[in-house]
Amino acid sequence: MYCGITNVPLNIAHVHPRSWGGSDRVSNLVLACIPCNETKSNHPVEEFAPKRAADILKRAKAPLRDAAAVNSTRWALWRALDAILPTHTASGGRTKWNRTRCGLPKTHTSDALAVGKLDAITETVTTVLVAGCAGRGTHTRTRSDKHGFPRLHMPRQKQFFGYATGDLVRAVVPTGKKQGTHTGRVAVRATGSFNITTTHGTVQGIRHKHVRLLQRADGYAYTTQPERARTAAA
Ligand SMILES: [Zn+2]
Repeated sequence: MYCGITNVPLNIAHVHPRSWGGSDRVSNLVLACIPCNETKSNHPVEEFAPKRAADILKRAKAPLRDAAAVNSTRWALWRALDAILPTHTASGGRTKWNRTRCGLPKTHTSDALAVGKLDAITETVTTVLVAGCAGRGTHTRTRSDKHGFPRLHMPRQKQFFGYATGDLVRAVVPTGKKQGTHTGRVAVRATGSFNITTTHGTVQGIRHKHVRLLQRADGYAYTTQPERARTAAA
């Protein structure tokens, strides 16, 4: 924290020296290299590191709300899980050690693979499945105009011809302007003329009889994406 050096053994140091009444609370602790820690000794931080002092004190004042939330719930969570199925815990340090030892990049998946007690990681992934919340539709049974007045009534019924808006479908249209195969999310109409939103755009007016169900809408949208590097915030 004081000199910015990396990859050396570190001490836990007190920002406000203990001999001056500084506490052992996490908010008063920083990591410092051993020479810095020894040189700083019981000098005030403003005197020892005048350039970094403001930043260090700001960090020390930052609320520890997130850490407190984790600290107060993690053992309760573990006990609840352990009651269902014998559960082991491991530190984040061990995860990093495993990941580094196996020469894996810093990604969510390699971190997940590297948790706990293990010998080696022999296989990794390049593509991940992303499940995003998409909702299950709306309770609103009207659409309103720009003044907020109800404009039209939406049907109470959710399914038409066996399909509901949001279902993942594939339509094979044999002839006509819409000829071809369209795969995507369907928006249903009572008339049986559906719209399908594909990755290339929305195709309107597809007859229900050309449509086949791939997956029911379950409130989640599934996509695959290449595995990406993890940011510090995550
Ligand atoms: Zn140092």
